Amino acid sequence: MTIETRTSIVWDYAPAPESADHIRVKDRYGLFLDGEFREPAEGRYVPTINPATEQPVAEVAWAGPGDIATAIERARDAQPGWAALPGLERAKYLFRIARLIQERSRELAVAETIDGGKPLRESRDVDIPLAAAHFFHYAGWADKLRYGVGAREVTPLGVVGQIVPWNFPLLMAAWKLAPALACGNTAILKPAETTPLTALLLAEICQEAELPPGVVTILPGDGSTGAALVRAPGIDKIAFTGSTAVGRDIQAALAGQQVGLTLELGGKSANIVFEDAALDQAVEGIVNGIFFNQGHVCCAGSRLLIQESVRDEVVGKLWARMRRLRIGDPLDKNTDVGAINSAEQLERIELLVAAGEEEGAVRRTIECELPERGYWFAPTLFTEVSPAHRIAVEEIFGPVVSVLTFRTQAEAIEKANNSRYGLAAGIWTDKGSKAFEVASALQAGVVWQNTYNHFDPTAAFGGYKESGFGREGGPAGLRPYLRVVR
Ligand code: NAD
Repeated sequence: MTIETRTSIVWDYAPAPESADHIRVKDRYGLFLDGEFREPAEGRYVPTINPATEQPVAEVAWAGPGDIATAIERARDAQPGWAALPGLERAKYLFRIARLIQERSRELAVAETIDGGKPLRESRDVDIPLAAAHFFHYAGWADKLRYGVGAREVTPLGVVGQIVPWNFPLLMAAWKLAPALACGNTAILKPAETTPLTALLLAEICQEAELPPGVVTILPGDGSTGAALVRAPGIDKIAFTGSTAVGRDIQAALAGQQVGLTLELGGKSANIVFEDAALDQAVEGIVNGIFFNQGHVCCAGSRLLIQESVRDEVVGKLWARMRRLRIGDPLDKNTDVGAINSAEQLERIELLVAAGEEEGAVRRTIECELPERGYWFAPTLFTEVSPAHRIAVEEIFGPVVSVLTFRTQAEAIEKANNSRYGLAAGIWTDKGSKAFEVASALQAGVVWQNTYNHFDPTAAFGGYKESGFGREGGPAGLRPYLRVVR
C-alpha cells in the first residue's frame, strides 16, 4: 500500500507597491495663514524625511513667534464671523472638507505613508477614511450643539491652539479641527515636526472648500513652536495630544490662566486574555493591538496579561502569528509593519528593549530581512516580565509587547490598573458578565471587548491618570470647545 502525501504549497507574496506618481507634493510648503500659503517671518524651511528611505519629501516652513502672533490676530479677526454663521452653514464647510478628503483619499494615503512610514494599507483603510468620518460626524453636530451638551445654552471659546503628534498626523488633525470648527471656534494647528505633510494638504483642501481665511491656520514647527503657541497671548484654549512629559509642561505653563486645556497623553494599556476567550481571535486582536502602526499608538495593547492556564498556548500561537508578519516597504500593499517614524524614536525603542534584556526578561524578535536604508524595528515579544520591569511600566511606542500573567479576575484587574497611565484596555472573554465586571473596575478611558484599536467618530476617547483629561469624539468631544452660558 502506498501512502500519498500531499504536496505542501508554499505561499509567497509578489511585491504590490502602490504608485506614488499620482500625488502632488510640492518641493516647498509655506505656512498656511490667513487662507494662503506664506513665507515664514524668519525664513526657516526644514526638510521632512521619508523614514523608510531617509530621503527628503519636501521642505516645510517652520513658524516662529512672529508668525504665531500674526496667526492669532487673523484667527481672532475671523472668529466672530465664523461663529455668527448659522450652524447649518458651518456644517456645509465641514461636509465639503470631508468630501474633498474622500476625493483625494488615495493621494492623502500615499502622502501619509511617505511622510510617516506607516503601511499604506493602514493609511488607506484607517487614517484617511476616519479623518473624513470625523468631519462628517461633526458637520452633523454644527446645528445641534446645545443637544450635545444637555440642552444648555453655549457659545464658542474663541481661538484655539491645537498641537498634534506624528503617529496619526491627518487623523489627529481631524480629531482636533472638526469639533473646534463645528462649535464656531477658529483654530491654529501645529503638526508634528516629522509629519507635517498631510496637514499641509488639508490646508489645500480648506482652500478648495473656500473656508473663510483665518478659520484654519496651519503652523508647522518643532517643540519650540508648540511651546510658543501655548504661551502666546490671545489663545482661549489649548488641545494637546502627545507625550505625558510635554503635557505636564503645558499644564504648568497654563496654570492659573483663563485658558481651557485638554490633554491626550501616553499610555501603557493592558490587553487581558481570559482562559475562556476564543484564543485564535484573541491572538489576532493582540497582533492588531500592538503591531498596528508599528506600535506607535497611544492606546497600544503593550502590556499583554494572559491567564496562567492558557499562557503557553497563547504565547505559542502569538509567536507563530508574529513570524508571518511582513515588515518592509510601507508603500507595498502586503506590508504589515512599516518604518519607525524617526531615528530618535528608533533609539528610544532600542534603549527600552535593551533595558528589558538587562532586567532579565526573555526577548524574542522575529527574523526578517530589513531594508538597508530607513528606520526599522522587527516585532518583538518579551516573556518572563515582572511588573516592575521598565518594559512593563514605560511606554515604548514601538512594536514590542510585554507578557505578564495572572490567575484570577481580581488579580487581572489589579495588574491592569497598576500603571500611572489609564488610556485604554482590551478584554478577551466568552462571558459577557465577566467583561462588564472587569470593564467597570478598570481605570481606562476606553475598554474594548473581544476587539482592539477599534475607533469610531461617535465614541469618546480620552484618558485617566497620567494619560490626560478631556474627551475627543462623539458629543463628549464638543464640550471642551464650548462655554456654557446658561
Ligand atoms: P511629543 O509630546 O514630543 O510631541 C507632540 C507634539 O507636541 C509635537 O507636535 C511636538 O512638536 C509638540 N511639542 C513638543 N514639545 C512641546 C512643548 N514643550 N510645548 C508644546 N508643544 C510641544 O510627543 P510625540 O513623541 O510626538 O508623540 C508620542 C506621544 O504622543 C506618545 O506618548 C503617545 O502616547 C502620545 N499620543 C497620545 C494620544 C492620545 O490620544 N492620548 C494619541 C497619539 C499620541
